[in-house]
Amino acid sequence: MVEADRCNCGGISEIGLFACAGGANVGLMSVKAAAMVSEKLGREKAALLCLPGISAEISGIIEGAKTCRAMIAIDGCGTRCAAKTLRKAGFDPVEIVLNRDCDIAKNHDLSDKAGLEDAAEYVFEAIKKIEV
Ligand code: SF4
Repeated sequence: MVEADRCNCGGISEIGLFACAGGANVGLMSVKAAAMVSEKLGREKAALLCLPGISAEISGIIEGAKTCRAMIAIDGCGTRCAAKTLRKAGFDPVEIVLNRDCDIAKNHDLSDKAGLEDAAEYVFEAIKKIEV
C-alpha cells in the first residue's frame, strides 16, 4: 500500500508549533505544552504540526508548513533538535528551549510534569509577541 505524501495538517493554522518530542521530561513537555496552547487558542490559530514529516522530507507536510504565517520550534534542551530540523528544511522558526527559557532541569523521568504550566505559558507569550 502506498501512503499519500501529504496529510491534512497543512493550511490549517496561522502559527505552526513544532515540538522536539524527545525522550526526556522536557522533550515530552514540548509536545504537551504545544498541545495545551493549541487547545487554548484553537487549531486555526496555533497547531501542533508534525516535525517527523519535516525530517522525512514529506513534500505535502513541508508545503503545509509553508502556509503558516510563523512557526515556533519548541525544544526540550539546548541540542535544539526541532529548531535544527526546521532550519535544515529552510525555515526560520522562533526558538524556545524549555530547560533554558523556562528553567526546567532536564531528566529522564517521563512522568515528571514539573514546569509544564510554565512551559505552556511561555509558548503562549511567544505567540503574543509574534502577533504584535
Ligand atoms: S532537543 Fe533535547 S530533549 Fe529534544 S529531542 Fe533533542 S536532545 Fe532530546
